[in-house]
Amino acid sequence: MVGVLVLSLLLGCPREARCPAGSAEDPARLARLSELAGRSPRGPVCFGVGAEPALLPGAVARLDASWPDAAAAARLAHLWEHLPPPAPAPACAPRPWEQEARAWHAELLLRRSLGAIDQAGRPPFTQAWLADPRPETVAAWLRTEAPAASRALSSPRTPRCSCC
Ligand SMILES: [Zn+2]
Repeated sequence: MVGVLVLSLLLGCPREARCPAGSAEDPARLARLSELAGRSPRGPVCFGVGAEPALLPGAVARLDASWPDAAAAARLAHLWEHLPPPAPAPACAPRPWEQEARAWHAELLLRRSLGAIDQAGRPPFTQAWLADPRPETVAAWLRTEAPAASRALSSPRTPRCSCC
């Protein structure tokens, strides 16, 4: 009993697990990726081998631990583009598909500068973006080549604002 008490005092209260099963935080890698991305960390990042990169509840980003640093940093920048901006928040948010286009633009800018453009052509608008590297290029691709995804992002249930 005394041993448990001493151990608890030494270790402090257990931290609430923020990462889903099979993934874990890696502060050293997060520092490396943040530096590569040229951004301050915007929240916890969980790394799991084979994990699909995603933004989880609580502003927790999840990355595939097996990705090279350059690609992981670029995807992290993409995921952080989906977080609300730091305070003070703007009066309105961009339309979701415009935000998605900006997130991909941020990721592709980093991939290009870090020499990590996917040679297999993923995402499929990479060549169009390389020819005309603007968020509008991605947005145009989403509207014409992925209308179902674009419609889902623009659904009436999705809050949007036309003033930005
Ligand atoms: Zn996105």
